[in-house]
Amino acid sequence: MIVVFRKSTDEEKLQNVVRLLTQKGFITEIVRGTEKTIIGAVGDKSRLLDISLEALDGVEKVIPILAPYKLASREFKPIDTIVRVGDLEIGGSEIIVMAGPCAVESKEQLIESAVLVKRAGAQILRGGAFKPRSSPYSFQGLEKKGLEYLALAREKTGMPIVTEVIDARSLEQAVNYTDILQIGARNMQNFSLLQEAAEVGKPILLKRGISASLEEWILAAEYILKAGNPQVILCERGIRTFETYTRNTLDLSAVPAIKQLTHLPIIVDPSHSTGKWQLVHPMTLGAVACGADGILIEVHPNPTEALCDGPQSLSPEKFKNLMQSLAPVAKAVNRELNLNDQ
Ligand code: PEP
Ligand code: MN
Repeated sequence: MIVVFRKSTDEEKLQNVVRLLTQKGFITEIVRGTEKTIIGAVGDKSRLLDISLEALDGVEKVIPILAPYKLASREFKPIDTIVRVGDLEIGGSEIIVMAGPCAVESKEQLIESAVLVKRAGAQILRGGAFKPRSSPYSFQGLEKKGLEYLALAREKTGMPIVTEVIDARSLEQAVNYTDILQIGARNMQNFSLLQEAAEVGKPILLKRGISASLEEWILAAEYILKAGNPQVILCERGIRTFETYTRNTLDLSAVPAIKQLTHLPIIVDPSHSTGKWQLVHPMTLGAVACGADGILIEVHPNPTEALCDGPQSLSPEKFKNLMQSLAPVAKAVNRELNLNDQ
């Protein structure tokens, strides 16, 4: 629910209500606006049966949150969440670019990718050490060795890393190496994994499930928030539709919709959503134009030799071109884009 305070309410009255709600087991968030101050509160309403919140000093009205998700909702927290990774702010004014190969294949391949994507303008390095592949015969990732190479690439380039965890075992290993934990589309509703990953306390990149509605996706984020970790970054990566020309269908309308429904940052993955490198460039421009806070792009030093997702991977040169064309789009929507070699 949302507790709205009268304009003139002083701090003591506000804190009294926060204290009371906390005692009753509610999670609260205070939002101070110029006109009004509100408290977003989530908890078991039956514990308030003996109290009339509206009768408390300073309270103007109490509005229920109607959406099935609470902590993630814009009503609960009207201001945008910014997820901080080192000096970077995801959900702030800058477009954050995460790039790198689908999978970590070798030390050389990863270091080369890291140096090249950084030079072209990426701020965060991606790379899978644990690969959830559709076929059990496909390359499954270098696992621990892959994590070590990611850490080495961070050491060499200074770029934070994002890598996927697929279960409790990979989570336990990855926490010691990664800056952002990625939960992939196939695990979006693996609620025990969401819970365990949340408890680690690192930022979580939560990809949209292959057939997940916006509501299901936000409810998955709600699991992480409810476990006490507010650092959630959503990632639209395409959904399964009747169209087979593309690998998935990129739902760009999800970007402004998520912004209206939640306060969480959202980025777009044009690589997995299209499955075709030829479509990555225009869809990236579209994603930034419609309000994405960042992008997650697969780049491989030599896409034709990639062990995983070569057809959707950009060469470093194509990635560099894309970054250059993205600058005016970012500017047009009042966002900053920091190209490292400019
Ligand atoms: C990935 O980003 O490496 C990946 C497997 O993506 P998704 O979970 O969106 O398929
Ligand atoms: Mn991939």
